[in-house]
Order: sequence, then structure tokens, then C-alpha cells
Amino acid sequence: MTLVDRIDALLPQTQCEQCGYHGCRPYAEAIARGDAPINQCPPGGEAGIEKLAALLQRPVLPLNPEHGIEKPRTLARIVEADCIGCTKCIQVCPVDAIVGASKLMHTVITDDCTGCELCVPACPVDCIVLLPMPLEQIDAPHADAARTHFQQREARLERQHLQREAELAVRKTTVDGSAVEAGTHQRNPVLEALARAKAKQQEPKP
Ligand code: SF4
Ligand code: SF4
Ligand code: SF4
Repeated sequence: MTLVDRIDALLPQTQCEQCGYHGCRPYAEAIARGDAPINQCPPGGEAGIEKLAALLQRPVLPLNPEHGIEKPRTLARIVEADCIGCTKCIQVCPVDAIVGASKLMHTVITDDCTGCELCVPACPVDCIVLLPMPLEQIDAPHADAARTHFQQREARLERQHLQREAELAVRKTTVDGSAVEAGTHQRNPVLEALARAKAKQQEPKP
């Protein structure tokens, strides 16, 4: 287990970004690099800071209030009668805990919700409310599940980004395989092969 893994294991996996990083893992990486202090995670609170201090042999610090205050964990619930199906909450949920489709009612998968609260300001009709998180949901298995859901979502978004980039590159490439985008003349072997095949088809038959 790397140092980043061990730090990440002590973070609550809420993925709320209050620490100033895009989730718990990036904050763990910043701590391990020495780029971030250990007192920027409000969901982890004082107990989390003490665990990080013990692991890293650093002094315990008070939670930095610039990153928020320690408070009881919550869960999101959508007031379904008011939901207009805009999908904005799904787009920001870091652990894929919301299901729904465009113009259809959305709902929160309660067991997967970390209470990060990122969906609340995203909702244009204020139909997401926060309820107390049951104590039995604040445990290691739920944190592990949240970590996995976060990683799966990040991987999916990265794949979608790469796919969009590839599609854009293809659109910018002429049929003879030469790139027309300014400053780039990279070969595209697939398109070159397609162009050769097309040229062959167009050759006059003997
Ligand atoms: S729980 Fe929130 S504040 Fe704490 S490390 Fe994770 S993303 Fe950062
Ligand atoms: S449903 Fe809302 S509060 Fe729950 S994890 Fe998703 S974005 Fe966070
Ligand atoms: S952001 Fe609000 S209105 Fe839009 S789908 Fe989510 S809950 Fe419904």
C-alpha cells in the first residue's frame, strides 16, 4: 500500500471537494506530496485530522474554517413531485448516486449517497433536501463503495473525453488521411488505409 493509499484510507470518501481538491484521492496525493496541510477536510473533522497526524508524524492542527465546519453527515433526497428532469444533479454527483433521465423524475440511491451536497446548488428548482445520514451508513464499507463509485465515474468521464477528442480529430481529417488542423500533419493509419481502399475501388477495371 502506498502512502497515498494509506492517507486516502483515512479520508471519509464524501468526495465533496471542500478540501479544495477534486475529491478525496487528489487531496491525499497533495498531502503526500507535502502540498496540502492535513486540516482541510470538514467531513473527516478533528478525528480525521488526528488519524492523519498520527500516520504522518505531524502535529495535530485545528480544522481550517476556510474549508467549512464539522457537522453531522447528511443524505440527499429529491422531492420528486417538484423535479423537472433537467439532469443537472446527475451531472455533478461524484459517486453516481442519482438515477433519472431527461424530462423524467430523478431519485437518489440512498445507500450510495455520500451527502457531499454538490447536487443541492445544481438544482434549478431547489427540490433537493438534506436529511440526517443514518449512523449505520457511516462505516468503512460505505466509504469503500464511495471510493469505487468515484473511481468508476472518473474513468468513465475520461473515456468519454478521449472519445470526443478522437471524434473531433477524425472530423478535422481529410479523406486522404492528412490532418488539416493548423500546425498538425500527423498521419492517421486507419484513414490512410480507408483512402487507399477507396482509391482502389475507383481504379478503372481492366
Ligand atoms: S471528504 Fe471532501 S473535504 Fe474530505 S478529503 Fe474528501 S473531498 Fe476533500
Ligand atoms: S446525491 Fe447529491 S449529496 Fe448524494 S452523493 Fe450525489 S451529489 Fe452528493
Ligand atoms: S437538478 Fe433538480 S430538477 Fe433537475 S433533475 Fe435533479 S432534482 Fe430534478
